[in-house]
Amino acid sequence: MAVIDEAACIGCLRCMNECSVAAILGAAKQIHVVLTDLCHGCGKCVDVCKPNAVSMEPILPTVSTWYWPKPVIQLKEA
Ligand code: SF4
Ligand code: SF4
Repeated sequence: MAVIDEAACIGCLRCMNECSVAAILGAAKQIHVVLTDLCHGCGKCVDVCKPNAVSMEPILPTVSTWYWPKPVIQLKEA
């Protein structure tokens, strides 16, 4: 998930314009913020941020997001 460093953000709007799912909220010359429920982790906003205010952080599973891993299927050779 993308995370914005509020101290480094200059409010240039680049990340907001780059995000295809409108997961970044902000206004010109104002601190921007990532809407965690919408961000799908594509990382495009990181590339356009000149002051390097955006970074990608891992999302730790919670009770509501954890799921059983899918089983590994091994195909038999003929
Ligand atoms: S691109 Fe970087 S500096 Fe510009 S608004 Fe987004 S987080 Fe802030
Ligand atoms: S990582 Fe992708 S989806 Fe998430 S805020 Fe950045 S551009 Fe939007």
